[in-house]
Amino acid sequence: MKLVILDRDGVINYDSDHFVKSAAEWKAIPGSLEAIARMNQAGFKVVVATNQSGIGRGLFDMDTLNAMHEKMHRAAQAVGARIDAIFYCPHAADSNCECRKPKPGMFRRIASCFNIDLHGVFAIGDSLRDLQAAAAAGATPVLVLTGKGQDTRDNETLPESTLVFDSLAHAVDHVLANTPRTSK
Ligand SMILES: [Mg+2]
Ligand SMILES: [Zn+2]
Repeated sequence: MKLVILDRDGVINYDSDHFVKSAAEWKAIPGSLEAIARMNQAGFKVVVATNQSGIGRGLFDMDTLNAMHEKMHRAAQAVGARIDAIFYCPHAADSNCECRKPKPGMFRRIASCFNIDLHGVFAIGDSLRDLQAAAAAGATPVLVLTGKGQDTRDNETLPESTLVFDSLAHAVDHVLANTPRTSK
């Protein structure tokens, strides 16, 4: 099975320093959903792993998160893209849960739900903690320079073997060029 793991805010949709906390505030980055469609067409399952501590902090509730994700699914559908699953951590930063990135808990759950070894799986994010969670779970960390990505590149020490691309569209070019066509 071919699978790719995406962060949400700053990768698929515009990020906000004040949290994306309503469906109205969820806005796709141009080209991101089309990039997902290209992966779907190449046989990839596309799975999102996103920290959503705004829930734990009381900034928005589960109904609102669901509404954001419905909007994302609909926008994806409109360009022929499909997001196969969304894993989220709803906990506040100080909760010490196992799922909040940089911990690899969500990645481990993805591995077990899809019964897949994450070795060689590309995990694309814009923050250091996305890359750290990917590396800790054995996936290949990929930084995109949308969202917080430029800041991450300029100010953080990236995990060894992190790949860097301008945007999800360019990261997907690399993923598709570096995946054997015959692999299932
Ligand atoms: Mg992000
Ligand atoms: Zn959590």
